[in-house]
Amino acid sequence: MAVQGGAAVASGITSLLREHKSRYDIVIASRDWHDAGNDNGGHFAPSGQAPDYVSTWPIHCVSGSKGAEYHSNLDSSLIDFHIFKGMGKPSYSIFEGETVDGKSLSKLLEELDVTDIDVVGLATDYCVLASSMDAKNAGFDVQVLTELIAGVADESSENALATMSAAGCKIG
Ligand SMILES: [Zn+2]
Repeated sequence: MAVQGGAAVASGITSLLREHKSRYDIVIASRDWHDAGNDNGGHFAPSGQAPDYVSTWPIHCVSGSKGAEYHSNLDSSLIDFHIFKGMGKPSYSIFEGETVDGKSLSKLLEELDVTDIDVVGLATDYCVLASSMDAKNAGFDVQVLTELIAGVADESSENALATMSAAGCKIG
């Protein structure tokens, strides 16, 4: 689903990972992987009705479709683990997702001994917010890289950054 500035974020993530590969032990990416043929728990706006871009959205990221692929500016060869979320339901946080063989993100992070997480991606006011808050609440040290995020709307993105900051996420 298009977010203004999203393509530049994808390019920026690729650059970060290429230029600072040693900074990260593990790179994990998530994406929506919605069901075709249903509204995914009310996540897709009913046909003929405009989405509100708060809790209802245009049809997006249907599993196996072009729209569920990573943006072409993101070099997916740099990603170590892929998390799928939103199968039949809204899932904003990466912590609601799972690997292709059904392992939860929490379990994966535990197995990998992860302690510190940098968060990048789309969208600031939804998935970045939900993922960062879940990571912080699970006890990780969380930093949100503000150069590498983009939001759906300005006001909700500003509120999201304030919420994450107040929760103890570093805003970098
Ligand atoms: Zn979705």
